[in-house]
Amino acid sequence: SNRIETLEFQAETRQLLQLMVHSIYSNKDIFLRELISNASDALDKLRLESLIDKELQADTSDLHVTIEADKEQRTLTVRDNGIGMSREDVVALIGTIAKSGTAELLQKMKESKDAAASQELIGQFGVGFYSTFMVADRVTLLTRRAGQEEGTRWESTGEGTYVVETVDDVPQGTSVTLYLKPEDTEDQLFDYAAEWKIKEIVKRYSDFIAWPIRMTTERTDEAGATTYDVQTLNSMKALWARPRSEVEPAEYNEFYKHVSHDWSDPLETIHMKAEGTFEYEALLFIPNHAPFDLFMREGKRGVQLYVKRVFIMDDCEALMPNYLRFVKGVVDAHDLSLNISREILQQDRQIQAVRRRLVKKVLGTVKEMLADQPERYRTFWNEFGRAVKEGLVEDRDNQELILDIVSVDSTHDADQPSTLRQYVERMKDGQKDIYYMTGESRGMIENSPHMEAFRAKGYEVLILTDPVDEVWVEQVGAFDGKPLQSIAKGQIDLDSEDEKADTEPEREQAKKDFAELLSWLTGKLSAEVKEVRLSSRLTTSPACLVGDAQDMTPTLEKLYRAMGQ
Ligand code: ADP
Ligand code: MG
Repeated sequence: SNRIETLEFQAETRQLLQLMVHSIYSNKDIFLRELISNASDALDKLRLESLIDKELQADTSDLHVTIEADKEQRTLTVRDNGIGMSREDVVALIGTIAKSGTAELLQKMKESKDAAASQELIGQFGVGFYSTFMVADRVTLLTRRAGQEEGTRWESTGEGTYVVETVDDVPQGTSVTLYLKPEDTEDQLFDYAAEWKIKEIVKRYSDFIAWPIRMTTERTDEAGATTYDVQTLNSMKALWARPRSEVEPAEYNEFYKHVSHDWSDPLETIHMKAEGTFEYEALLFIPNHAPFDLFMREGKRGVQLYVKRVFIMDDCEALMPNYLRFVKGVVDAHDLSLNISREILQQDRQIQAVRRRLVKKVLGTVKEMLADQPERYRTFWNEFGRAVKEGLVEDRDNQELILDIVSVDSTHDADQPSTLRQYVERMKDGQKDIYYMTGESRGMIENSPHMEAFRAKGYEVLILTDPVDEVWVEQVGAFDGKPLQSIAKGQIDLDSEDEKADTEPEREQAKKDFAELLSWLTGKLSAEVKEVRLSSRLTTSPACLVGDAQDMTPTLEKLYRAMGQ
């Protein structure tokens, strides 16, 4: 049936479209990058599917992208002969925004009234296909899924609804046609039907795309005759395969945007090549900001796997551990089967070796950042520190390397977190332990009675407020040979030997004086506490609760309960 349906955009999509239609994003040029990026993905998918499924009825002899501009009609079309979409795909993929974090993003935009902030937010989020509505007041899409007969036509003005229709005689793949906004014609800068403009955008943003991006250019000679010439606009060099010295920073940045779907530049680029028994190239990026779904269960990992330039899979968990899930990029391994499954990859010893090396490289890069570019490291830690700390528990092999890059709050400086190394350098003469306290907030910890004696004696205490902190401090136990000691647990002796000798008789006397009171209190409170003791840790508070050295802290109890244990 070729039924025509008018469907409503999902509420969140509608709000995003509103923003696009009113074009709050200043760099409108990037709509073309988004369309080319989608076309390139579709070509990757078709190549892979046809390699795996020999029965697939699809022509893969000349996979490419074409751009067609019509100056009279004021249209711009981007066409690919890739995987295409079924009608259901179109409704599911183009009509809705599946990205987790959309609701949060929109909420943030509502909260931040100023335009620059919402621009920044949308830049962080990226809007892919919808960015076409920055430059077009109507968009049509014609597509046919490889191996299927029916084609689908989609059209929308980006307002509340879109139309889908089943149509015949659609070439395999997808073409997207933009009806350019009339107001943009006046400004040369936004003349997206102009040949020079298209060439410039492709060169700037999409040069590394591995498929040819073609455009038919028109020339009128002196005699008035028109000639046509098909040009390939991009150089198509797989960036990761090129020597580092020959790649411009801007090229890395654009490639990052393509693989990450991010709109801002990466914080750090890592380009490496391994030769020998198992050859591979890796081009990895640490983003500038955390994705919205960093702590959501279904959140994505960012590393793509290629085998000899053939795209194999997104989101390859075998290549990056969970705690480094924010790292984006590409690994191109030379000796793997194209058919390799996720399960087999996880078991593959060579892949495990690649992963070990990538992890060391990423952590090493952060360590260098900490030494050489402390500001940049701060950004990194603010964005990703919470995830990295999971590695202290998850990745025992790299615990030491991770400990080197961990920063935590401290009583030393209210504004600057401290590394463990910095803490150790500030330790007082004779101080053997690294003191810390865990809790829900800095305020709670600072006002805790446990803190009093430490403050009075001038000892620095690390302030750990993330739930994951509870878990790692327990497991790690020590740093640089110095035990990590909770100030809220067990008995801590802050007095030096001399001070102890001075006060010993006094304390013995006090114990005797209060013996009756203490045993009376212990009896009265037996349901709540194990023992009531005299304390030397308080200076102004009358009493405090102390856990046994082996007890769980209240936050940890909560964490385990939340995990259902
Ligand atoms: P993203 O590329 O980040 O997933 P987009 O908004 O750019 O988001 O695209 C949404 C989805 O629509 C894509 O993930 C893809 O499944 C589908 N899509 C878009 N363009 C094409 C295309 N040219 N061919 C096949 N599928 C496409
Ligand atoms: Mg896209």
